[in-house]
Amino acid sequence: MAQQDIQHYMRGGTLQLAALPPLSLYVHLPWCIRKCPYCDFNSHEAVGEMPEQRYIDAVIADLEAALPLVWGRTVHSIFIGGGTPSLFSPQAIDRLLGDIRARLRLEADCEITLEANPGTFEKDRFKAFRAAGVTRLSVGVQSFDDQHLKALGRVHDRAQAIAAVEEAAQAFDTFNLDIMYALPGQTMESLERDMRQALALQPPHISIYHLTIEPNTYFAKFPPVVPEEDTAYAMLDKITELTEAAGLRRYEVSAYAKAGHQCFHNLNYWQFGDYLGLGAGAHSKLSFAHRVVRQVRYREPKLYMEKALAGEAVTQETEVSRADLPFEFMLNALRLREGFKLQDFTEKTGLPITAIQQGLEEAERKGLIERDFARVKPTERGFDFLNDLQSLFLAG
Ligand code: SF4
Repeated sequence: MAQQDIQHYMRGGTLQLAALPPLSLYVHLPWCIRKCPYCDFNSHEAVGEMPEQRYIDAVIADLEAALPLVWGRTVHSIFIGGGTPSLFSPQAIDRLLGDIRARLRLEADCEITLEANPGTFEKDRFKAFRAAGVTRLSVGVQSFDDQHLKALGRVHDRAQAIAAVEEAAQAFDTFNLDIMYALPGQTMESLERDMRQALALQPPHISIYHLTIEPNTYFAKFPPVVPEEDTAYAMLDKITELTEAAGLRRYEVSAYAKAGHQCFHNLNYWQFGDYLGLGAGAHSKLSFAHRVVRQVRYREPKLYMEKALAGEAVTQETEVSRADLPFEFMLNALRLREGFKLQDFTEKTGLPITAIQQGLEEAERKGLIERDFARVKPTERGFDFLNDLQSLFLAG
């Protein structure tokens, strides 16, 4: 699909966005050492040498074709995700960031996150990633228990996970640990051990994921025995209790941070900000004065590289309909402990507040939100029954 002429995005429409939201950049690097049995991300086993240089050429060609859509806008954060981006050499990441800086204006304190796995070989590169301009590392630890790591098909072990986190703490002022729970064979005791080990390393940020069995994964074909739903709820309560006691506050359904260490990039997603997604299978959400547009890039890395180098990386583009915008906004904003300002809804969707009035009234009646004239916040109950709360805003 060829990039549309910019006039196409600027033409009149029924939405009225007074200003454009902050813009973030996502770059997808799609290779991993091997595929984990639970993983449904766009990740591919690296067979032989990764085509680092060609892939970065493709990402930059992709960016150049997309530039007219974000002309004049400042980038507030960059997230390099995957896959396992730490498999890319620090030189390649340095070139990627340099090429991005040459084409886009970055905010002075632009947060630049890179996802890394705890293998020894990746760990030895952490300082070089910092020197390349990465400001925040997100370490895919998942667990510190060798048995659980094995069940998850991870290539690292407990000792490597600890060494990687210690290295991240030395090289970066801020970093994240990804931790999973409700794992095969996990008990409340082993969950608590895992969390105590994670917190002993004093991470400023933790992201918590419930292991879910996704279609088209190895686990979907050969499902492991995982804790019952009630146990999984109790585990999440335990995680929240332990992290809060360690000074990390749950600021989003699955994210916990010390003061000053919230992830700007993810906050921007949840606050319905804009993002340009570059790389294989990446998604974008971009606002214009009268419309909000979503794009998807070609998913398979080889095809993506061919298409991107020809300036045609986008395989799908849709305009978010007026009817779907309230739900899309609420799906994100209600994940936040502090909720959202009513004014943000109007600014980011271009719709009047009456578009969510009925949903808000019902949510309040059911005790799922609290609100005043300026702000809406999910209650404890709303947080626990988030799907029910979000669904009140589905287009009827
Ligand atoms: S390392 Fe991460 S992205 Fe790669 S296969 Fe495993 S879960 Fe998926």
